[in-house]
Amino acid sequence: MARIQLAEDDSAIADPLARALTREGYDVTVFDNGQGVLDAPEVPDLVILDLGLPDLDGLDVARALRSRGPLPPILILTARADEVDLVVGLDAGADDYVTKPFRLAELLARVRALLRRSGAETHGEDELRAQDVRVELAAHRAFHGDRELQLTAKEFDLLKALVREGGSVVSRDALMREVWGSEPSAGSTKTLDMHVSWLRRKLGDDATSPRYITTIRGMGFRFETNA
Ligand code: CA
Repeated sequence: MARIQLAEDDSAIADPLARALTREGYDVTVFDNGQGVLDAPEVPDLVILDLGLPDLDGLDVARALRSRGPLPPILILTARADEVDLVVGLDAGADDYVTKPFRLAELLARVRALLRRSGAETHGEDELRAQDVRVELAAHRAFHGDRELQLTAKEFDLLKALVREGGSVVSRDALMREVWGSEPSAGSTKTLDMHVSWLRRKLGDDATSPRYITTIRGMGFRFETNA
């Protein structure tokens, strides 16, 4: 269960939001100030941060959190639309923002996306899933239905990257950097295509009408989340 810390002093916003997040299955801790977030002993999977807090400026809270490391992802709530650039920029290190008033569904979608991106939204301890494909991160195993996939290290990393971003296009550049730790070149692009085709074969996927991995011309690949 992903743990979320919510810092929002306006209970008219905090209460319904906390209820909605709890209903979605998240473990939510609410603070009506910024210091509480900074003092919390546990590092959550996501922080939702109001900019206008009574004790500290939300931007300062975001900067302080970011100075400790890349995690947790930070989602900013702000009525100050003019500060949005500042918020999402490198300056404060927030990952996304929602301007008030926001629709609950919109905010929940952002929360899901951020948790997915950080790999925190998992089933069980550390699993990624899309359709009937399951990747067990710690065990370094992958399954297609009940069948374990026999993957090389690179194929595993590639599958992991695609499933983690399931439903979204992952660019060739991003895959090259994540799986091969290199900037794309003419030769490496071919390597990527070969690995995708091996992965497809192991999934029994058909490149012309793929069920799992779709090629997005000029961009990259998308692991389909709906059959
Ligand atoms: Ca406020």
